[in-house]
Parts: sequence; structure tokens; C-alpha cells
Amino acid sequence: MAIKIDVTHISDDLKSVIQNAIKQKSFSGSQDNEYADNCIKIVLFNDNDRQIVKQLLEDILRKNQINDYIVVDNIKEEDEIAILRKDDLEQLGIFICPHCGMLFSNEGECIIHQRIHYFI
Ligand SMILES: [Zn+2]
Repeated sequence: MAIKIDVTHISDDLKSVIQNAIKQKSFSGSQDNEYADNCIKIVLFNDNDRQIVKQLLEDILRKNQINDYIVVDNIKEEDEIAILRKDDLEQLGIFICPHCGMLFSNEGECIIHQRIHYFI
């Protein structure tokens, strides 16, 4: 299985940082990875690698002190991870819980979900 990282929304600098990190990390079958203008396609042989890829991307954002972007699973396309500007989320119809980062495609669900945090 392959996974795509949508990098349409990020700067070229950040994109090359991510590309290099993925090359270094050498995922299984990494020779087959493709780097296009708007997406990076990584070939994964292991389902768990998806979580590792997300972790890697989050680490890159943190190390570069990029706080206005987040790594999200694409709600519409299962095999895609996207890096989005937090400001763009609502425009894309994605709502994020400010407490835990969970994503919702519906504002009402997001608000209902946030209540659980007040009881912990
Ligand atoms: Zn939450």
C-alpha cells in the first residue's frame, strides 16, 4: 500500500525538509517513493508505518517551530495525509478539537466532542 502526503499547502522550503527527512528515514521500499509538486507518495509495506509517517511529519513541524500547520488524515481520501494551515481548516470543512487535535467534518460534532474534556 502507498500513502500520499498532500503538500499543496506548504512552502517549498518546508517541502524539501520533509522530502529529505523521508529519504533519510528510508521506509521499506523507499526507492519507489515519488516526489511530485503537490504530493509525496511513499510506498508502505506495513500498515503501522502510516502512524510513523505522521509522527515524522509532526516532529519536523515541531523542530522547525512551525506552529500554524498541522498533520491530518484526509477525511475524504483514506490513503492520504495532508499538512494544512490551521487557518485553512474551516474553509476546507474540517473542524479540529483545540484540546486533543481530533478532526471532525461537522462543527456540531466537534463542539459536542469538546465537552468531554471538561469532565476530565
Ligand atoms: Zn478533543
